[in-house]
Amino acid sequence: MTSPSAADADIFECRRCGDCCRGYGGTVVDEADIRTIARYLHVKPETFRAGYCDRSGSRLVLAQQSNGYCAFWDQLCTIHPVKPRMCRAWPYIESILVDVANWRAMAGMCPGIRTDVADEHIIACVKEKLRIAS
Ligand code: SF4
Ligand code: SF4
Repeated sequence: MTSPSAADADIFECRRCGDCCRGYGGTVVDEADIRTIARYLHVKPETFRAGYCDRSGSRLVLAQQSNGYCAFWDQLCTIHPVKPRMCRAWPYIESILVDVANWRAMAGMCPGIRTDVADEHIIACVKEKLRIAS
């Protein structure tokens, strides 16, 4: 039996394919993300909002290129050290704890997600990652 503390390698290993950086309704950015990324790009937060974000309902999302990829995707994430919380969290999200079937559904869009793992182990790993991130 594998240990929940070995979460990453056991249930997920990013293949760096970039599929999660394309489409899917956009990457939400909050005010903390905006301040951090703007500082990294050496622009003012208002310049970043105007130049790199789009509105999606009441939220701001990162703008997309005409090919559907995030504005910051160029064979890799060009703002990796400061990428938004939503990108840093993937694929360890709360909804998996509500229904572990969400993990297996997410695997359809992320080749790094392993599905040949027991539900109990997936839940234990996700809980551990969320605990560390909180
Ligand atoms: S879709 Fe999954 S495997 Fe591909 S870059 Fe995103 S996180 Fe990594
Ligand atoms: S910020 Fe980086 S990781 Fe997040 S969607 Fe854009 S390119 Fe992908």
